[in-house]
Amino acid sequence: ARDAGLKLLREHALIAGEAVTGAKRIAVDDPATGEIIGHVPDFGVAETEQAIRAAVDAFPDWSRSDPHKRAAFLREWARLIDENTEGLGALMALENGKPFDEARGEVAYANGFIKWFAGEAERLLGETQDSPLGHVIVTFREAVGPCALITPWNFPAAMLTRKLGPAFAAGCTAVVKPASQTPFTAIALAELAYQAGLPKGALSVITGDAATIGGVLTASPEIRKLSFTGSTPVGRKLAEQCAPTLKRVSMELGGAAPLIVFADADLDLAVAETIKGKFRNSGQTCVCPNRVYVEASVAETYAQKLAAEVAKIPVGAAFEAGVKVGPLIEDKAIAKVEEHLTKVQASGGKVLTGGKRHQLGGRFFQPTVTLGGDDKLFRDEETFGPLIPVFPFKTEAEVLEKANDSEFGLASYLFTRDLDRAFRIGRRIEAGMCGINTGLMSTAVAPFGGVKSSGYGKEGSTHGINEYVDIKALTLALK
Ligand code: ADP
Repeated sequence: ARDAGLKLLREHALIAGEAVTGAKRIAVDDPATGEIIGHVPDFGVAETEQAIRAAVDAFPDWSRSDPHKRAAFLREWARLIDENTEGLGALMALENGKPFDEARGEVAYANGFIKWFAGEAERLLGETQDSPLGHVIVTFREAVGPCALITPWNFPAAMLTRKLGPAFAAGCTAVVKPASQTPFTAIALAELAYQAGLPKGALSVITGDAATIGGVLTASPEIRKLSFTGSTPVGRKLAEQCAPTLKRVSMELGGAAPLIVFADADLDLAVAETIKGKFRNSGQTCVCPNRVYVEASVAETYAQKLAAEVAKIPVGAAFEAGVKVGPLIEDKAIAKVEEHLTKVQASGGKVLTGGKRHQLGGRFFQPTVTLGGDDKLFRDEETFGPLIPVFPFKTEAEVLEKANDSEFGLASYLFTRDLDRAFRIGRRIEAGMCGINTGLMSTAVAPFGGVKSSGYGKEGSTHGINEYVDIKALTLALK
């Protein structure tokens, strides 16, 4: 499988569909070993400007093209992605470190966006309305313009297709800046897009220093839209940089998701779903449960069951059979997990399982469960690693207050058999998404996005395409 991934690895960026290399390069490593798997160009201002020019030049034809043709292109791209599932999965496993099976799952998840938005291209509906001025108003949903898309390393395929699917469906062109830790998946996907018939110029993938490339993209008056997935501090900075040119902006930022378990819940289900939610991508997702609150009467039982299951999770490198948790993306990610663990222990939390760097060494950490201590840190910061801190609570009012006492509001989770309570809390929780009796909610058909410092805008679902269109109103004076 590894070889199938290496076959798709290209050490060049793509400007307007052309492969471009440079003398200065960035090394990309395999997080499991720290071994260099390849290099990409370290591009800057000049190449970013070329990519913008290409996106601007390609925009008129692409945005005015028949949306059914764009749908056909998206379907062909999706077909090629399906055909290359093994290779793309392996490439992601190599550069991100996630288990190969999980990486293949991400390919299917990522492709779900392209398939969904192929349909949305065919449904770019407008409205008609009688006006009190005696006119008729007709609206069209038109592409916003050339887009800048900046994506993170945790889902190298899905975070890209979730933006490119609706962008292309709407008729936008794009310049993509993938994370430097995981650029190869983005380049491979872009090559497949060109194989599927994307017009030259409609897509560029620029690798290099993030602040430089981001600076040029955000400053450009011709780039009309930025969609960013990443950390809240960088998101804030980019939003600021977009203000002078008044770009449309979508921000999918950090989270600190609460997961709440009531005493009436199916505890086995809650344990299984906590594990599914938490250990996806080895704990490195913005919707991972960051803090678990359990009603005091069942807290010990839940935590012991959870610890017993977590202790069995197979840890290892991506291509080892049966592995469920891989290495973290880089050394500083391990340091952060250690810091969070030390702090929760210092405030009275007890380690029930794990608690140390893994014997595999490098960037591997033991899947860890703690019980008790102070939850404040976990309201303020996401751990982004395989640590589940469990905190007992007494009343619904208390836990709701704790859940909401956070700067962030992306995902949340709730386990209860009481339907009234599920709706009551579901409606009052300050988060863009709430999973009820489930730890996994992400699919192309679900509206994904947060509130507060988790950002704004929706990806996926029937709302996703709205981020890439402007509404044009024609008013007709019909006699
Ligand atoms: P993470 O914690 O996921 O690495 P970042 O926000 O640092 O979050 O990174 C997400 C994406 O944003 C990556 O593609 C990264 O290269 C890019 N990025 C980081 N800093 C900047 C910046 N100053 N301007 C533009 N993009 C940036």
